[in-house]
Amino acid sequence: MITFKDVTKTYPDGTTALKSINLSVNEGELLTLIGPSGCGKTTTMKMINRLIEPTDGEVFIHNKNIKEYNIHELRWNIGYVLQEIALFPHMTIEENISIVPEMKKWDKKDLSNRIDELMSMVGLDPSKHRKRKPSELSGGQQQRVGVLRALAGDPDIILMDEPFSALDPISREQLQKDILSLHKKIKKTIVFVTHDIDEAMAMGDRVCLMQEGEIVQVDKPQQLILHP
Ligand code: ADP
Ligand code: ADP
Repeated sequence: MITFKDVTKTYPDGTTALKSINLSVNEGELLTLIGPSGCGKTTTMKMINRLIEPTDGEVFIHNKNIKEYNIHELRWNIGYVLQEIALFPHMTIEENISIVPEMKKWDKKDLSNRIDELMSMVGLDPSKHRKRKPSELSGGQQQRVGVLRALAGDPDIILMDEPFSALDPISREQLQKDILSLHKKIKKTIVFVTHDIDEAMAMGDRVCLMQEGEIVQVDKPQQLILHP
């Protein structure tokens, strides 16, 4: 589904963030990307939707080089959940969720039903929360909306970059469960970045361990060998 072939990234200041990495993410799997701060996780994620271009090597989606996709089509097909909660403050919850479907010119009635369905899946009561502004929701609820926004346009791929980092432990645990149950239902390809090994093991179908710009291991959680 997503393939990195000998991908290297050197930033203009000379920092090499990725050293010739090879990685395949299978269709429908949840791959967790784990490693210490600065090992290249975010760089890897941003390459998938072309926020960053490789210095060397190639990235493919469905066996097609991502350079050959129209950039808007590519990004509409990839939901991105950011570390910081990034809802538009002046828009209501339903407007925030509708950004990509609106761009895709979805039927209004279908979209409205989909918003109800999505909100219910993560325990947000649509009748109560649809018309609210982000500031009227808790941090955990806002981050859920961030996840729904990424899902709303029915993308093939969802990227989540430490989506829980702004949350308290209880919201974090709840959202972890919600994402796993969402994943079971919708079976989308998800790449999930974390620096928490327990989270990586609990959530990943496979875990990709990175260190200093290299991929050290990719395996099922129970087969992962951890070097202390
Ligand atoms: P992680 O997400 O694992 O913390 P990053 O991909 O953000 O790692 O960063 C990998 C390396 O690249 C780090 O050494 C970081 O300092 C460096 N880096 C990231 N972005 C830039 C940039 N825009 N310019 C220069 N160096 C960068
Ligand atoms: P930028 O203008 O920084 O390149 P984009 O145009 O990619 O940003 O995205 C604008 C907003 O829409 C962002 O808040 C982003 O999170 C959201 N967005 C972009 N693509 C998607 C997508 N495929 N699914 C969900 N939300 C998206």
